[in-house]
Amino acid sequence: MPENREERLKAALQNTRVETQAVRAGQIRSQENEHSEAIFPTSSFVFESAAQAAARFAGDEPGNIYSRFTNPTVRTFEQRLAAMEGGERAVGFASGMSAILATMMALLKSGDHVLCSRSVFGTTVVIFEKYLKKFGIETTFVDLKDISAWENALQSNTRVLFLETPSNPLCEVADIKQLADLAHQNQCLLVVDNCFCTPALQLPLKLGADIVVHSATKYLDGQGRCIGGAVVGREKEMEEVFGFLRSAGPTMSPFNAWVFLKGLETLSLRMKAHSESALILAQWLETQDGIKKVHYCGLPSHPQYEIAQKQQSGFSGVLSMEVEGDKAAAWRFIDATVVHSITANLGDTKSTITHPATTTHGRLSDEERLAAGITENLIRISVGLENIDDLKEDLQRGLAAL
Ligand SMILES: *Cc1c(COP(=O)(O)O)cnc(C)c1O
Repeated sequence: MPENREERLKAALQNTRVETQAVRAGQIRSQENEHSEAIFPTSSFVFESAAQAAARFAGDEPGNIYSRFTNPTVRTFEQRLAAMEGGERAVGFASGMSAILATMMALLKSGDHVLCSRSVFGTTVVIFEKYLKKFGIETTFVDLKDISAWENALQSNTRVLFLETPSNPLCEVADIKQLADLAHQNQCLLVVDNCFCTPALQLPLKLGADIVVHSATKYLDGQGRCIGGAVVGREKEMEEVFGFLRSAGPTMSPFNAWVFLKGLETLSLRMKAHSESALILAQWLETQDGIKKVHYCGLPSHPQYEIAQKQQSGFSGVLSMEVEGDKAAAWRFIDATVVHSITANLGDTKSTITHPATTTHGRLSDEERLAAGITENLIRISVGLENIDDLKEDLQRGLAAL
């Protein structure tokens, strides 16, 4: 048994569950022996000698150099998230989008091809279709739920399959294991945006995915304070992702990393509460006049309910619904609520209400939007931690305005 208490904790944590890792994994204590994690707001670090500086820069000695790519608070966040996702290593980023861009810059080269689910975050589409395309990387968008569509769109130069499950805002679900098998049979990597479920509810790496990406801005923070992102996976690919971070510098700030660390500590409790309230609201909304359709993967009426049940331990807090009528009706509903915040963010303690067609998915062409199922009468709700009866009463205001 190792003598050092921190070493013993590290060894013990390998066999603990996600709730324990969320609170305990990855702590780096300074000489002050603080209990809560320290923030290190410093751009650079000093060396004992010129020889040590040289060894650090050469990579012969591990340790801090410069906060663009080595900061103890950010590293603590990375180690904790890696433990929770069951990955060898995580790399923190300034945002979810920079985490996605860095993953692609690290893994792909000109002439490569990507298969991407049509139901991904709107800005992710822009990264693939506008920016990566400029450098000779082509993307084909496919129906998330249709395994034969993925199969048929594969090309000899396909390198990456990219998806979100459940998707935003329609809560569509893909079978991660099935797509991981397809990817590996074709020498591709499967990248999963695990933003909606988080490691508290879904572990894509355990299901066979190669890489997980996150917008930490959402549930990992959980209280709508900071922008951040992360990539998690095997050492081999993460070293490449880290190399891009080191050179390009879309770096997570130490303060944000600290906020995310505190967020991770309550993640499992929050995800349980978000999921419980969302399920109650989804079931209730399904029975209301004025609601044409509710999209929530925790409803037995959801077409991929069985897969969601199999690969997730909860259904998360985001649901969407189609109201009777057009865009004007959807806007009337939104404007009539008061407890819900009208904002595009999600994964907050505060419930939020959004009209995807004119906000998060507003930059897509009409065709792309329709193909993704983002209709004019669709409203997305991110269910927060308010009292469920107050949320119901607020949605009743919306219903009355239809
Ligand atoms: C918000 C979001 C992103 C982008 O993350 P940012 O932190 O806003 O850059 C990516 N994927 C999903 C699923 C998101 O919800």
